[in-house]
Amino acid sequence: MVIKGEATVVKHTGSHYMLSILPDWDLFPAVLRGKIRLKGSSATNPVAVGDIVSFEADVPEGAVVSDNVTLENPAVITAVKPRRNYIIRKSTNLSRQTHIIAANLDRAFIIATIDYPEIKLPFLDRILVTCEVYNIPVTIVLNKVDLYRESHKEMLEAFHEIYEGAGYTVMEVSALTGEGVDALREACNGHVSLFSGVSGVGKSSLIKALDPSLDPKVGEISEVHVQGKHTTTFYEMYSLASGGFIVDTPGLRGFGLVDLKKEEIALYFPEMLKASENCRFAPCTHTHEPGCAVKEAVEAGEISYDRYSSYLGMLDEEGKYR
Ligand code: GDP
Ligand code: ZN
Repeated sequence: MVIKGEATVVKHTGSHYMLSILPDWDLFPAVLRGKIRLKGSSATNPVAVGDIVSFEADVPEGAVVSDNVTLENPAVITAVKPRRNYIIRKSTNLSRQTHIIAANLDRAFIIATIDYPEIKLPFLDRILVTCEVYNIPVTIVLNKVDLYRESHKEMLEAFHEIYEGAGYTVMEVSALTGEGVDALREACNGHVSLFSGVSGVGKSSLIKALDPSLDPKVGEISEVHVQGKHTTTFYEMYSLASGGFIVDTPGLRGFGLVDLKKEEIALYFPEMLKASENCRFAPCTHTHEPGCAVKEAVEAGEISYDRYSSYLGMLDEEGKYR
């Protein structure tokens, strides 16, 4: 009997998808029927982790889908529901092709460290802008505080001032000592959350600290042996025992800023957007215009010079690739 249903994509390998009907975590495989193309999309992947899809499955009457759907008898994805949001990266800097990393995210946790490795503020700001563009609430998680709380006291304080001043929540945690891990677990509960951060910040360690049954590094071994075929694992969703779901983004260097016009960039720096209400000109690029309230706020120290400088860097870069 063919039954129809809706489920969330929790994993994508080269040859098939794994679905689950959230918040249940009973995974079953599915394949795409024919070509599902998204109108106007230049994405290389039509279906991404976090997508809610319609599927059909051939199972005995009254049977539980996940018990009867196998790789030999997979469910078939027939449609992708409209996305609430999604994040993409460019395939390369010069290409217009994009890859959808994840869809329908409730929030994003950007994992960073003040040191070990040293934080790069322009890079962080770029990720924050991307989250603003896609309307994904974001929390900054400073991991490894055990290492630098004393040695980098002033930098840590300055960081809080800059980013809390810009309107973001900044959490301090340590996957090593467990400090702040309960608060992070609590913040993940009931949501589908993106975990992002450059390699080495302790993202895998943190996910493990949140739920010891999870081992994201295992997923990084991209060759998985399935039915005699090698397939590559891409992005993946995890279920936290405490509740909530995490989309891990291994090897993600950065998000591409796609389809942002120069005059739009400042809209995604919340503190600049607010100050710009008082600019004499609209639109204002907050660079050369007289009576620019953003520049005044930077000079008065109300807007962080680092953030403004990231903004100028993005202005400079946008346009190069179009
Ligand atoms: P990932 O690349 O972001 O997934 O980082 P890993 O989880 O592999 O961690 C990178 C290194 O940092 C490992 O040697 C971890 O043991 C170490 N590490 C992770 N979290 C912490 C922490 O909170 N404190 C300290 N001192 N080291 C940590
Ligand atoms: Zn201005």
